[in-house]
Amino acid sequence: MFVSNAVRFASSRFASSGAARRSFASLAAKTAKSDSARRAAPLVAAAGFAFGASTLLGSRQEVTSNSAKSAEEAAKEVENKFGSYWPRNILILFGPPGAGKGTHGPKIEELLGVPQLSTGDMLRAAVGAQTEVGKKAQAVMKAGGLVSDEIVVGIIRDRIKEEDCRFGFILDGFPRTIAQAKALDAMLAEEGACVTKVVELEVPDSVLEERITGRWIHKKSGRSYHVKYAPPKSMKKGADGAPLPESMTDDETGEPLMQRPDDTSAALKKRLESYHGETVPILDHYSPNGIVRQVNANQKMSGVWAEVLKSLQRSA
Ligand code: AMP
Repeated sequence: MFVSNAVRFASSRFASSGAARRSFASLAAKTAKSDSARRAAPLVAAAGFAFGASTLLGSRQEVTSNSAKSAEEAAKEVENKFGSYWPRNILILFGPPGAGKGTHGPKIEELLGVPQLSTGDMLRAAVGAQTEVGKKAQAVMKAGGLVSDEIVVGIIRDRIKEEDCRFGFILDGFPRTIAQAKALDAMLAEEGACVTKVVELEVPDSVLEERITGRWIHKKSGRSYHVKYAPPKSMKKGADGAPLPESMTDDETGEPLMQRPDDTSAALKKRLESYHGETVPILDHYSPNGIVRQVNANQKMSGVWAEVLKSLQRSA
């Protein structure tokens, strides 16, 4: 399908990114009347420059008079213009473990049509595949420590060169140290780009332990459940009131859910120490650019999302 060929939305997450494609399709439907223009419009909307549609595509009449094939070519041309001349939209989704980055990231991905890149997910995939990087990272991750800057910077450097990052990307879990932030700035500066927004999800530490220790995940999709706040339909409890592990299955696929090896109280303590000690100073690093926005992530999910949406606006 044209729209899916035009912009590839594959993310580092295992989740299917079909939702992002669907969102572009609906944007297109809203902004264009003719078939051919409808197919071209998502590219414009994707880059956030809807106002440029008529300029870049030529008049709508011109597009509609062409065959479907030439409309595709015209849209490809628009895509190439955005990919070549406009800066990339680079968003950092910031917050402690359990703040909701994995929940709201996919929604931002769908909204903006750029992929969410989670270094945690990439490292877990490397551990699962037992690559050299995975073997090096495994023990430190399980204990809640930080993997070396060299490894994660290398992973991100390679990942952001991929085609689906052409219009921008959402960073989740990176940068986590000032050294990583400086390395990111330096690699972006090579193309004259910079971080465009930092959205901080604020949650008090006291709330995070319950969120983290009650979390169950469907590995393939990244879908996240919570024994108290978002239990899977299948959940059954034992005599002690604790959920029976064999009853924890994904609502959509029926496949087993898992708990992350670092979602324990002991590992969380270490993760929060490094968050406050090494990661939070990154906010001061980006504040002078006027791009840091705070979101109260300790409220109902709909309230968090409303604040996230507001924080992403240019005027916010
Ligand atoms: P997350 O899924 O973001 O909570 O990350 C899980 C674990 O992966 C972290 O506790 C770290 O051990 C490791 N990790 C992920 N991203 C980074 C990073 N940017 N720097 C260092 N370690 C990381």
